[in-house]
Amino acid sequence: MATEHALFTAALGLSAPWKVSDIRFDAQAKRIDFDITFTSGSRFACPACGAEAQAVHDTRQRSWQHLHFFEHQAYIHAAVPRVRCQDCGKTTQVEVPWARPGSGFSQLFEAMVITLCQQMSVQKVANYLGVGDVVGCQNPYIFGGGFKNTHNYWVAKS
Ligand SMILES: [Zn+2]
Repeated sequence: MATEHALFTAALGLSAPWKVSDIRFDAQAKRIDFDITFTSGSRFACPACGAEAQAVHDTRQRSWQHLHFFEHQAYIHAAVPRVRCQDCGKTTQVEVPWARPGSGFSQLFEAMVITLCQQMSVQKVANYLGVGDVVGCQNPYIFGGGFKNTHNYWVAKS
């Protein structure tokens, strides 16, 4: 693993089997993209029933906006594994450690939005973070049905 990959794996708070596999930096676009992969042959717990060490069935490519790095917009990309559970028979996408299920933003990015929304208008937060038209801002810990059942609590249209 290249040194900068190890550095950003640590900076993103990742641990095995997840690691940064590629970094693309576009100075003109002020944007940095991280590819995250999991170690080949890794097994994951079934999100539906909790059965441990299920083999990967397939993967789905997904992206999340993350906290800015040095005023550059940052995005995470990963092929997220799905497991076909030997116990319950369901095929389910595993949860990634950096984002809530169904969210297009990393948890740290969401935490930043929640914090900023306490001090700034929603539109100012949207402009500051460059996420287009933010039309709502709610903390899932305060509003609406709990952590996992709450979908994006603000909506960004790009
Ligand atoms: Zn299961």
